[in-house]
Amino acid sequence: MSSCDTPDLIPVDQAIEQLLTHAQAPSQRETLALSAALGRVLAHDITSTLNVPPFDCSAMDGYAIRSVDVQIAGTRLSISQRIAAGDTAQPLLPGTAARILTGAPLPTGADCVVIQESCERAGNDVIINNIGKSGDNIRRAGCHLHQGQLVLKAGTRLQPYHLGLAASIGLAQLTVYKRLKVALLSTGDELVEPGQTLHSGQIYNSNHIMLKALLERLHCEVLDLGTIADDLALTTETLHHAASECDLIISSGGVSVGEEDHIKQAITTLGRLELWKLCIKPGKPLAFAHIDNTPLIGLPGNPVSSFITFCLLARPFILKSQGISKVLPKPITVRADYEQHRMGRRREYLRATLQQHDDGMLYATPLANQDSATLLSLAQADGLLCIPENREIRHGDVLEFFPLSSLTAC
Ligand code: AMP
Ligand code: MG
Repeated sequence: MSSCDTPDLIPVDQAIEQLLTHAQAPSQRETLALSAALGRVLAHDITSTLNVPPFDCSAMDGYAIRSVDVQIAGTRLSISQRIAAGDTAQPLLPGTAARILTGAPLPTGADCVVIQESCERAGNDVIINNIGKSGDNIRRAGCHLHQGQLVLKAGTRLQPYHLGLAASIGLAQLTVYKRLKVALLSTGDELVEPGQTLHSGQIYNSNHIMLKALLERLHCEVLDLGTIADDLALTTETLHHAASECDLIISSGGVSVGEEDHIKQAITTLGRLELWKLCIKPGKPLAFAHIDNTPLIGLPGNPVSSFITFCLLARPFILKSQGISKVLPKPITVRADYEQHRMGRRREYLRATLQQHDDGMLYATPLANQDSATLLSLAQADGLLCIPENREIRHGDVLEFFPLSSLTAC
């Protein structure tokens, strides 16, 4: 676990825990058509009002029979009816077979479906070459799920298969939590939006689109406040407005200790700073605060710091605020494919690639460029390799690795 020996820095796990105590579960709900509910969070448990399948049916194409009628291989039966999916079956006449197709209702009296590969058609008769036993190739009513069964729990992020499941029990609508409304702003006089001309001293704003995409992937409603200049009065005014409009404010840049870092100063004027500076690399100058009871997560300006702190801290906060209970990203276990004798005092998240070796294990290699401003190595990485505080790394050491997909998936 965390063992940060730098007293003014907050260990990552402690910061996450502290942040999560401030995340409020949502209270407002809305009812949506299934087609509009993808990715939203279910607001209540769902219990089935019916059996699936609703009736006994055939699981295969074949012949429905009474098993007592076929005691020996080669028995010949006349075909008394044909039942396709969607048809209504007549009771099976004793001593006959019904031609039956997958999904068709089983005729009363039949207790077995013999697959067509085990049968030989002879005009209007069928010769059963392999005797079946009672229950073969039949799906009983309610065998997939039964009336009264809990099928979906409140707090489920609705994936395509959840929508399919809801449809299978006849639901056309679902009640979900309202979207979390998040104000997003970038700070920095040097920032220019892509598509515009870059003048001397300027850089393109890469955080804004990245953070907006991360928020949208989490199905947040984004109030896009764009980029604001490095100006205390403007920063204060913007944060005050954002707090009155939104459930959460996310900012990037301006939380460090330079004289043009106004987010922290504005927070002190408007609200209360709950947490600042983490024992993490990259991403140290993260700030968490409240402005008029609206939480604010101030992400560092360097793009990779912004991404990593969003994924490790802001994302769990957002998930909990959306009504989800399991909010922390799940690491996988990998082995180090390198050596590092220099020990870092902060916990490091290295951009790394993975390779499977002959022993079947996954081995991680950090990318050469770990500069916190280099998005290219993030784009080249498979994920983030977590190096605990004050740890020397030897080849083969077991470490936690967060695949990028697990940090950005919804
Ligand atoms: P700051 O925390 O505002 O001092 O920013 C730290 C570094 O990140 C500086 O080099 C900034 O130019 C850079 N930076 C800040 N915001 C952004 C952004 N939105 N996109 C790209 N780089 C940024
Ligand atoms: Mg700045």
